[in-house]
Amino acid sequence: MELLKQRILADGKVIGNDCLKVDMFLNHQIDVGLLNEIGREFHRLFAENNITKIVTIEASGIGIACVAAQYFSVPVVFAKKGANKNIGNNLYTADVYSFTKGTTTTIAISKDYLNEKDRVLIIDDFMANGKAAHGLINIINQAGAAVEGIGIVIEKGFQSGGDALRSLGYRVESLAIIKSMENGEIVFG
Ligand code: 5GP
Repeated sequence: MELLKQRILADGKVIGNDCLKVDMFLNHQIDVGLLNEIGREFHRLFAENNITKIVTIEASGIGIACVAAQYFSVPVVFAKKGANKNIGNNLYTADVYSFTKGTTTTIAISKDYLNEKDRVLIIDDFMANGKAAHGLINIINQAGAAVEGIGIVIEKGFQSGGDALRSLGYRVESLAIIKSMENGEIVFG
């Protein structure tokens, strides 16, 4: 998606060799106009899949998923991190290692909001090693629902997550794939 790539080049900041900061438009301040185009593109890609629910993970995925969901006219369910009493005991859970924090957290979705009739589109801001996506797939499998696809805003193609999921047969659609970002220079794949 050209608009997104241009925005990454204009406002993204490379941290080290493998972390991209996009706080200017996606992860802290949010450019809702850009999000709207991202949502439209996810809908164009998955319009034929009869999606019944969009599933994401808190916090950064929620805004993206909500804007996309308006195009699909379906609800968003977000996995909560650090399961607590607020959402009760009736939960599907999975453990997810966080690329940015370096810690493992339990994520949870209430059994009330996912079932075997659901056809799910997973949406997230980044794909690195695929841990977040695997955790969500695990939960969706527990519910007996179908994973129709995975929509990612920015995939770091030099990390293994996206291709590993593709080789397992999942449809992963990333709107921008970064091939490398060594020495602060972002190169798209
Ligand atoms: P994965 O689970 O694929 O290893 O990492 C994806 C998750 O980690 C995303 O939900 C995202 O929030 C975070 N993440 C991974 N890499 C980056 C990055 O380069 N920049 C930012 N801002 N978040 C990242």
